[in-house]
Amino acid sequence: MKVMKFGGTSVGTPQRMKEVAKLITSDPGEKIVVLSALSGTTNTLLEISNLLANNDREGAGQKIAGMEKYYRAFVQELLTNETIIDKANKVLAEHFEFLTIILKISFSEALLKDILAQGELLSTKIFSLYLEEQNVDYVLLPALDFMTLDNQDEPQVGTIKVKLVQLLQHYKDNKIFITQGYITRNAKGEVDNLKRGGSDYSASLIAAAINASACEIWTDIDGMHNNDPRVVKTTMPIKQLSFDEAAELAYFGAKILHPASIWPAQFFNVPVRLLNTMQAEAAGTLITETAGSTGVKAVAAKDGITAIKIKSSRMLLAYGFLRKVFEVFEKYRTAIDMITTSEVAVSVTIDSDTYLDEIKKELEALGSVEVDTNQTIVSIVGNEITETKEVMKKLFDSLSAIPIRMVSYGGSRHNISVLIPKNYKEQTLQLLNKGLFGLE
Ligand code: ASP
Ligand code: MG
Repeated sequence: MKVMKFGGTSVGTPQRMKEVAKLITSDPGEKIVVLSALSGTTNTLLEISNLLANNDREGAGQKIAGMEKYYRAFVQELLTNETIIDKANKVLAEHFEFLTIILKISFSEALLKDILAQGELLSTKIFSLYLEEQNVDYVLLPALDFMTLDNQDEPQVGTIKVKLVQLLQHYKDNKIFITQGYITRNAKGEVDNLKRGGSDYSASLIAAAINASACEIWTDIDGMHNNDPRVVKTTMPIKQLSFDEAAELAYFGAKILHPASIWPAQFFNVPVRLLNTMQAEAAGTLITETAGSTGVKAVAAKDGITAIKIKSSRMLLAYGFLRKVFEVFEKYRTAIDMITTSEVAVSVTIDSDTYLDEIKKELEALGSVEVDTNQTIVSIVGNEITETKEVMKKLFDSLSAIPIRMVSYGGSRHNISVLIPKNYKEQTLQLLNKGLFGLE
């Protein structure tokens, strides 16, 4: 059995939804199909929640009405059979009634999660009705019946496996299972989610739980590319990546795959395929334990980075200084991405500014602190690149005109990262496209 996950744009129009149905039915094997919400829906639900949180009930009500109109038109265009259209309208009535009721109750974090869950509940129900209309045999498996988080909000693969295997036993003769990405229950049994973009994570957790033969992530691009197609003219898809390489790329900016989705696949050794709904025959990118080849494969950029330099003469010849620095970040649950040190200073980067003021204040007890916001990490990723000839030379030759703030080399064999001010990002990616790949 395999997992096929379709993102928001792949189900974002009635036409695209029909194509997804074709894709899953033309492939004869058993599969669990994981769907995101229609593109734009989770954003709209978040806007509705923000309006409610600010007590703007009228504004929220208008947004809900606009959304309902959109969904009514969507099912009208998708479906033709009157009985099925009736069913779809009942589904919409039920979910929009819920959204209307929330206008009358007081806003809370738990309610926010319920609101955000509507997108995936709607997309899977609408898609299921289309399958019904097409006489396709399918089973809708509610993610809220098997996806669970522990009290640290981490998914419980063991429990998910037990629940899913039990559920699947009831349907020995069925081949197509539909479920929601993104949504889950938390340790309290409430509706929760795997954070924005979390449908990929759902797919790989499910693939791990059922020991799937593959986890296919279908989007609107033919795999992971060697560079950002929005910034450089020419990019090419990468044929194969190791889990480690894919994790670096996903974390450091390749938008195509949620970074958290790598570990379940890697741990349970399920190959991941990145495929294109618009071009189903394209090879896409295969992610497995092995890298396939050595050398530079891709560059990726991650914005919104803050660099913090802590300078102290107490660091000279001292031990334990770094522990004290790291403890501050641990206290504020802020992850560090890059680190560089000299004998009297250490620089680190973080990608969340939530506790910047508190962190800065506490670090000042350890030395003088300098903060640079609006930085970008550019990562060069490839199998054994630190052993690949001339990579450093090409890198620095290409970037001779860029003010590099930090360099991280040797942390792993497949990543070299540089930190630059964000306004140099485009130029940096273009220079590297030429210098490392010979592309414009
Ligand atoms: N619908 C959710 C989001 O937009 C989850 C996902 O699409 O992956 O973040
Ligand atoms: Mg996504």
